Amino acid sequence: MTDLPHELRGLLAKLFAFDRLELVRVLGSEDTTRKFLFRLGDANLIESVLIPASPALYGEKSDRRTICISTQVGCAYGCKFCASGLEGFSRNLRANEIIDQILAVEREGGEKIDNIVFMGMGEPLANFDNVMCAIRIINAPSGLGIGARRITVSTSGLVPQIRKLADEPLQIRLAVSLHGATDNVRNQIMPINRRYNLETLLSACDYYVAHKKQRLTFEYILIAGVNDSDAQANLLAEHAGRLSAKVNLIPYNTVQGLEWSRPSRNRQEKFLSILRADGIAATLRSEKGHDIDAACGQLRLQTNRKERRQITV
Ligand code: SAH
Ligand code: SF4
Repeated sequence: MTDLPHELRGLLAKLFAFDRLELVRVLGSEDTTRKFLFRLGDANLIESVLIPASPALYGEKSDRRTICISTQVGCAYGCKFCASGLEGFSRNLRANEIIDQILAVEREGGEKIDNIVFMGMGEPLANFDNVMCAIRIINAPSGLGIGARRITVSTSGLVPQIRKLADEPLQIRLAVSLHGATDNVRNQIMPINRRYNLETLLSACDYYVAHKKQRLTFEYILIAGVNDSDAQANLLAEHAGRLSAKVNLIPYNTVQGLEWSRPSRNRQEKFLSILRADGIAATLRSEKGHDIDAACGQLRLQTNRKERRQITV
């Protein structure tokens, strides 16, 4: 725009970016979970997952086209079961980079997305301002027009930000990654628990539920011999009962370089039945995405490692 004054051009270049996500790889097929690997303007890689006709996992009606999006490049929280944290944290995504994942997947899939879960790479509440900015645009009628109740934010347990989110007027859904029903178990697998222990986290959840007047969901990955005992199931039922929370059990997806495995199908069913016997609304996630490494961060990790090998060869 050479007809604009030089100074104004400089200012515009500083304030606005027009880069689009570059699609690097797609895994999966039309009728199953599909995983997208994108390259950002600065060459960093992020992932998004499209889950067609998902069951009602987070309280929304079933049969929605759900997208799981990333909020950071890498993650600083280092949960022991998660591929996203394995190479540390690089940077926060900007609001446009968060929204662009939805637009790019809609372009690829040719259908409108109507349900969003912030469960991809990164800790959404550690990038609070950009995530809230993205959510407002996603929700706005002049933006993507997706209802707040069809937007779910997942957190590993950032207590002050859970309270801050509760104070936001939008009726966004919250999913809390619990993965352990005692401090002892949580400390082993989630370093964040040493900063905000279970009781502190549960009382922030209480605060959220009281402010939003809606149920929250506990995510619970089942890892053999780590958090899948009857005793953990009983305590989890107690926590969920206290908050009237739903529980979403997720069999652990094997991550290259990590030693753990998922419990047997029998063990998974037993854990589920203990929760249900206590009157908890619990689901056991089906196998969706295991074959395409759909646990967050895995595809990026493989691609990063492959590209490094190619560079060193
Ligand atoms: N940082 C946020 C959101 C991203 S991680 C959080 O921790 O909640 C979101 C979810 O990814 C986790 O709760 C867990 O359900 C899932 N996840 C991560 N690693 C996994 C693995 N190896 N197997 C199965 N699910 C995994
Ligand atoms: Fe980060 Fe969530 Fe993975 Fe933990 S589970 S390392 S908070 S992305």
